[in-house]
Amino acid sequence: MITHLIKSSVQELTPYQSARKIGGNGTIWLNANEYPTSPNILGLGTLNRYPEPQPDELIRRYARYAGVRPEQVLATRGGDEAIELIIRTFCEPTDSVLYCPPTYGMYAVSSTAFDIRAKTVPLTDDFNLDLPQIQANLDGTKVVFVCSPNNPTGNLLAHDDILALLAMTKDRAIVALDEAYIDFCVDKSFARELDNFDNLIIVRTLSKAFGLAGIRCGFALANSQIISAMQKIIAPYPIPAPTALIATTALSDDGIGQMQTHVKTTLDNKAWLVRELESLPIVKAIYPSSANFILVKFDNQIQSGQAVFDKLWETGIILRNQTTALNLADCIRISIGTQDENQAVIDALKTL
Ligand SMILES: *Cc1c(COP(=O)(O)O)cnc(C)c1O
Repeated sequence: MITHLIKSSVQELTPYQSARKIGGNGTIWLNANEYPTSPNILGLGTLNRYPEPQPDELIRRYARYAGVRPEQVLATRGGDEAIELIIRTFCEPTDSVLYCPPTYGMYAVSSTAFDIRAKTVPLTDDFNLDLPQIQANLDGTKVVFVCSPNNPTGNLLAHDDILALLAMTKDRAIVALDEAYIDFCVDKSFARELDNFDNLIIVRTLSKAFGLAGIRCGFALANSQIISAMQKIIAPYPIPAPTALIATTALSDDGIGQMQTHVKTTLDNKAWLVRELESLPIVKAIYPSSANFILVKFDNQIQSGQAVFDKLWETGIILRNQTTALNLADCIRISIGTQDENQAVIDALKTL
């Protein structure tokens, strides 16, 4: 049982009983102070009504896509809300979170926003977990955030290291595994381990491979006790009806097929971009990537990473500057764009 790790106030909390949660079999609905008729906007129908708190069909379809059971899925406003909910569900004011830089910035932002102390254990030289240092920092740590494929380095964390981390933290801490980019290498997901590790929470999103960053839809995958606890403190109606409609459509067989086609195209375009970059003298290193971006280190004997970033910025090509991130001097993160966009990056780099 993992429930002892849940923050005590959340364990004791009786969740807000929203009108939709209380339910009923009405033909006349006058219990939620809604306007009785809907404006006709984009043909979307009953926008006057509050949406389902956890849209049934959306949950069922994501569960099927992820290979888990519906009771192991919570829909959230992007993966970022799932990250925030994990901190709010588990961390007492005296608890810490732990994360491993260079990594996604929201673990630091969210823990700071909720006044939860954060410990950092840097990734190793090859951007893997430093398990002995994590072990040495487990006292007082309630949540360990790890990201695989990691943003901004692009690599998958070693499978056996994640297994070792899950075993090391058993009954002591939650492992929040951020799989925002897993759709680009979906056979590497840890979703199938949810039944083996009750301290595992996986963060997912429709913002990356599904191409739907604009609708704000993500998911937490975990055992049903954790999902129930997170449901107690998520906003009463977190998923807007238009978001649920679009996301449910994107998770149809046809929608998933389209996403898989886009993943193939992205991986082909990434291979092309890597080949082109390898032939440029200003490129010092291209790190292995399992995601839809690559981390590139520039040779500061020729041009510093900052200078490369600035010069492309001036030509209207906006990349992600990583030169001040831990151990990433002269590094820039490049998202895989369309083939034309990727070509423009190469052309601009050739003029430097
Ligand atoms: C993009 C991203 C997310 C979540 O993004 P949302 O748009 O909030 O779903 C989470 N983690 C990482 C590492 C990301 O890069």
